[in-house]
Amino acid sequence: MVQRLLEPGEIESLDHNAIPRLLLPQARALFTARAARLRQLANNDIIGIPVGESMQGYLRLMAALVDAQAAVAASLPAHTFALPDAAEITLSLDHNMPPLPVSGARPASWRTVFGAILDQLEPLAAQQPQMAGVLAQLRELDAAQLEGCADAVLAEVTEGVDPLHAPFVAAALQVVWAMRASQLDSPAVQPLVTNTLCPVCGSHPVASVIRIGGQSQGYRYLHCGACASEWHMVRVKCSCCEHTSKIAYQSLEAADNQPAAAADPAVINKANDPSKVARAETCDDCKTYRKIFNQEHDFNVEPLADDLASLTLDLLVGEAGYARASGNPLLWFNAA
Ligand SMILES: [Zn+2]
Ligand SMILES: [Zn+2]
Repeated sequence: MVQRLLEPGEIESLDHNAIPRLLLPQARALFTARAARLRQLANNDIIGIPVGESMQGYLRLMAALVDAQAAVAASLPAHTFALPDAAEITLSLDHNMPPLPVSGARPASWRTVFGAILDQLEPLAAQQPQMAGVLAQLRELDAAQLEGCADAVLAEVTEGVDPLHAPFVAAALQVVWAMRASQLDSPAVQPLVTNTLCPVCGSHPVASVIRIGGQSQGYRYLHCGACASEWHMVRVKCSCCEHTSKIAYQSLEAADNQPAAAADPAVINKANDPSKVARAETCDDCKTYRKIFNQEHDFNVEPLADDLASLTLDLLVGEAGYARASGNPLLWFNAA
């Protein structure tokens, strides 16, 4: 028998360490895809994530905001999104710290991004009086007020933040962080000691997602709410306390309340099952949950958009006594 040499790609696929640990965002494509997904959700076109009429207007408004993010990401000059000095990044990585920390000093250029997003929304404001009112308020914020709002948004605290302003400030910060994250060297960025925080920026994940395709096939990733990086975490593990013993899944279909054992990767799910597109991963150790979206069952899942649109699932899991592990940057209206 003739021995066949392995191609480089095949060798990689045999290497367990070749699982991509970190998927950096493709910032421009990200916002374009997110806006499209939000519109599909608003039209109630996604079978696994039914959206009630009360939510549809809000999702369309957020789609317009994400359109503005995409436009600004594509049009502002590259220096707006300049990375910190290479030495500073290396120092962070050497100390196992995130290279673009949300808790650190932020580039003043984020306020340019914020202004550019408001400009993008002007045509919409011309048609919608409420939008015009919000934009007028946002334009009146001075630098100190904006920085205060940005501090609160990035620290994920609701105190002192006008919930009406927060999504717009969050949107500007997301553009800055995603555009910078997309320029990092992925293999150089190592997981943090706490795998529940984003290795790029130290922020919380907004949701998790099971990816398909290439070397990410079937792996679960946590999706950062700030910079949109995705980092690997094994399945059936709490993304808040990292315990594994009391995990369960809840979907909008009551029949799917399966025990964790059934989520064993060895059990191959039939693809395109709408009841498995959006589920809440609950943990009875810390009594929190995060949603998990499954690309095996809907190719176009988008963690942040799908999380925003699946509020019904939040209500269901909330009634069962679980608290959300972290918020959605584009949703502050129901903030306590
Ligand atoms: Zn991040
Ligand atoms: Zn937990």
